[in-house]
Amino acid sequence: MWLGVDDTDSREGMCTTHLAGDLIAAINHAGLDVIGYPRLVRLNPTVPWKTRGNGAIAIQFGRGGGGRHLIGQVEGERYGRERLRAHGDTGGLFPQLVEVVRRRARLDTPGTNPGLVMSRVKPPVALYRRAVHHIMDREEVAAVLEDAGAVYRGFNDGRGIIGAAAALAWRPGDATYEVITYRNGGRRWVDEESVRHMDRRCPDTFDNYDYLHRHVKILPASPCPVLYGIRGESPEGVREAMHQVASSPVRRWLLFQTNQATDAHLEKTGAGEVRPFSSVAVTGTVSREPRTIRGGHVLFEIRDATGGVDCAAYEPTKEFRDVVRRLRRGDVVTVCGGVREEPLTVNLEKMFIRRLAKIREKRENPVCPDCGKHMKSAGGGQGYRCARCGRRAGEEAARMVPVERGLHCGWYEVPVVARRHLAKPLRRMGVEAPAPDTE
Ligand code: ATP
Repeated sequence: MWLGVDDTDSREGMCTTHLAGDLIAAINHAGLDVIGYPRLVRLNPTVPWKTRGNGAIAIQFGRGGGGRHLIGQVEGERYGRERLRAHGDTGGLFPQLVEVVRRRARLDTPGTNPGLVMSRVKPPVALYRRAVHHIMDREEVAAVLEDAGAVYRGFNDGRGIIGAAAALAWRPGDATYEVITYRNGGRRWVDEESVRHMDRRCPDTFDNYDYLHRHVKILPASPCPVLYGIRGESPEGVREAMHQVASSPVRRWLLFQTNQATDAHLEKTGAGEVRPFSSVAVTGTVSREPRTIRGGHVLFEIRDATGGVDCAAYEPTKEFRDVVRRLRRGDVVTVCGGVREEPLTVNLEKMFIRRLAKIREKRENPVCPDCGKHMKSAGGGQGYRCARCGRRAGEEAARMVPVERGLHCGWYEVPVVARRHLAKPLRRMGVEAPAPDTE
């Protein structure tokens, strides 16, 4: 059996991952086991109505078999089982889970529209792909759920069933892990030095700390019950890292398998085909050189056979903008990022420089072969003229030298402080291991 839940939180509090802990407790209370790890699935990062990171939860449960592994601490230790042995008796469980959501979700907050889905059959993976790349509507998702024989319940306008169903539909190929600790009502404090120490000691984790900006990335920016979250390549790695962070009391924690840091959101697109509310990877030639606008944002344009698109490295991307400012007309790049509606720009997360245009600058005017003196410019594009004898030379006669670009072909990414949930850090490029689709 699969359970999906989404949209239970508001900007002022709660967090759907926290509610996942209550759902797991209820599942265990009914004598059933969590299979594998609970999942935190990030969906389209450009949906306008997300609270924060557009994350939804999926949990597989039933009667478990095989080994057991620690998945968290929620009113005591919680374990997951390796595999599903039998479905178990799930009759009567759905109303109990609905009750957990009703009690714990921020139902009175406008914009909080929880959705809960329970299904023996996983919805087709196409549903996940659509939800991570496009905007979907509730009816479209409800039709897929009816086909799958799922039971579902929406609160308020019920939009949460979109995320809940899409999270169920995810098949982990490339996947990462995140351990999330919760302070509940308590203080949010971590010892910065312990985070740096953990970052150096736990190479299996990533995006913990931005050394240049002295930014503790594991801390959320919102007033939710989360204390901190550590991301990494393996469950053991993030669990070990958690024990190295000195913080205010951890009241509960949970370990999630996630699609974070996998680039699942990016779709290859032509420059002229970029649409709002999508995330794209576009290859093109720089056609308008970078310019810095008010606020420190850097804009440029690329073109391919399908047209052109504006690209932006916004101020929060910090020193990444220095790389972007060095681009010149004729450079060939692949830009990756989310697309806003207004202005319609690719909001850069990373960039691959494929080819650097050879740019030459004038070092010296030509020398007159008769007089041995440097000639003078005869005016824009008119070539050169010797001031003494009047002899003329073309533009090409000047001594030109290649410009040192200060760039190399390859990947560049925004710093940790500006990293988005789904963006794959360069240190993960090449380590991903797409698993066969077994679910
Ligand atoms: P948090 O990350 O703290 O859990 P959030 O950013 O996930 O919060 P939600 O409150 O879950 O924000 O709001 C996202 C809403 O958008 C949910 O109702 C979800 O069902 C819906 N949604 C997710 N993906 C899509 C999509 N591709 N098209 C339309 N709606 C979507």
